[in-house]
Amino acid sequence: MRIQVGGLSEGVHEYSFRTTPAELGLPPGFRDEVETNVTLEKTSRQLFLRATVSTTADVECDRCVTPFREPLGFGYQMHYVWEESEAERVDPSEVQVLSPGTTMIDLSDDVRQSVLLAFPLKHVCREDCRGLCPRCGRNLNEGSCDCKDVPVDGRWDKLKELQNNKSNQAG
Ligand SMILES: [Zn+2]
Ligand SMILES: [Zn+2]
Repeated sequence: MRIQVGGLSEGVHEYSFRTTPAELGLPPGFRDEVETNVTLEKTSRQLFLRATVSTTADVECDRCVTPFREPLGFGYQMHYVWEESEAERVDPSEVQVLSPGTTMIDLSDDVRQSVLLAFPLKHVCREDCRGLCPRCGRNLNEGSCDCKDVPVDGRWDKLKELQNNKSNQAG
């Protein structure tokens, strides 16, 4: 994912890249191509890059454990400057100082890191996912189970017995 910047004219330039997850060094679970669209604006002081990245990841729902393919889409921006003093003007995570002879910038590391940062920690297959029954493990999205009225353990059975005995004695 390289952009030739040596001799690039001032103004706005657009690029797009399609990269396999393997080429980018992403972990297994990313299988679809990573699509990156870039707008690069060159001025006398800097190159300002804005990128939008989209791909998918294979994940498991945190609630119902069903595997699904989660779409991922986000953007990031980066300033490439030649002077350290220019770098101080922007967020350190969004600036790189280029050495004077730089003719090429490579986006691979930034795109990989952005994908990993944008990857959510929690995955839910759909907002109203009902999850698994904590007792029988049935996927409640596929239908309800009969667990609702069954007591957690036998303690309540004994209590009921006692109550029955009492009412029998009373009667
Ligand atoms: Zn789910
Ligand atoms: Zn159940």
